[in-house]
Amino acid sequence: MRYDLHAHSNFSDGALPPAELVARAKACEVDVLALTDHDSVDGIDAARVAAREHGLRLIAGTELSVTWNKRLLHILGLNIDCSNPQLQAGLAQLRAIRTDRAERMAKSLEKHGIPNALDGARKYAHNGIVTRRHFALYLVELGRAPTEATVFEKYLREGKPGYATTQWVALADAVSWIRAAGGVAVIAHPQRYKMTATTLRRVAKEFVDCGGAGVEVVCGGSGRDIIDSSAALARRFDLLASIGSDFHDPAYKWVELGRLEPLPANVTPIWAHPSFSAEGMQ
Ligand code: AMP
Ligand code: MN
Ligand code: MN
Ligand code: MN
Repeated sequence: MRYDLHAHSNFSDGALPPAELVARAKACEVDVLALTDHDSVDGIDAARVAAREHGLRLIAGTELSVTWNKRLLHILGLNIDCSNPQLQAGLAQLRAIRTDRAERMAKSLEKHGIPNALDGARKYAHNGIVTRRHFALYLVELGRAPTEATVFEKYLREGKPGYATTQWVALADAVSWIRAAGGVAVIAHPQRYKMTATTLRRVAKEFVDCGGAGVEVVCGGSGRDIIDSSAALARRFDLLASIGSDFHDPAYKWVELGRLEPLPANVTPIWAHPSFSAEGMQ
């Protein structure tokens, strides 16, 4: 079975509509796909319809933005009941934070000689959620930098003109909403936070204490050392191991749906979690 449990559609900062994402997953021989848009579940219905047509299994998911000790963390919720009121209220809170942040980012960019950045970013945000990637696409369009990666370096990362310090939601809240919705919470791409091993272990400890159950051990483009250290973290905290490409856009040639290293043999896969059993499926 080929699993890809982390992917974005144009309901957040991915390029493809949910149905096209599912069709691409099928073409890439993915058997089980999770749609995990940032702070949104609005693409799930369309993805589910397409998954039925193509005969692949769709896992309803999301990727929640969390602030832990002033740092950004991404927590995946897999196998969630999208209609759960607690989850819905949490997502509404995250959207309000996003809207406020987008306005502050635009103001800050304006001070640096880039007017109307919010309208520019919104042009690329087809379904309501405005992310830094949408600002990046607009800044590339303006010719401020040649690629998205260089826009992030020049404008959008911490300390740069378009960066707005943001208090996302608390780790315990994100995990509790996912659990309330019957889902399993997973720490996304643990090696991308530039945390020391000690800090990462503190995150994992708190995450487990508040009911988190998994960690992404294999992500798109992960090398051997990243996989090994994530697997060690999973074993140390008895976390189930997840696998997902974090696919956003066919233009990112270095990441493809389902094109992932296998999970190491010394971890327990996330699909051992009861929410992955047929009965537990939403
Ligand atoms: P946001 O959640 O609005 O802060 O946006 C974060 C998203 O921006 C991530 O999920 C990535 O898709 C994208 N991103 C973050 N850093 C970079 C980077 N250095 N280059 C390209 N895209 C990035
Ligand atoms: Mn993204
Ligand atoms: Mn992420
Ligand atoms: Mn992601």
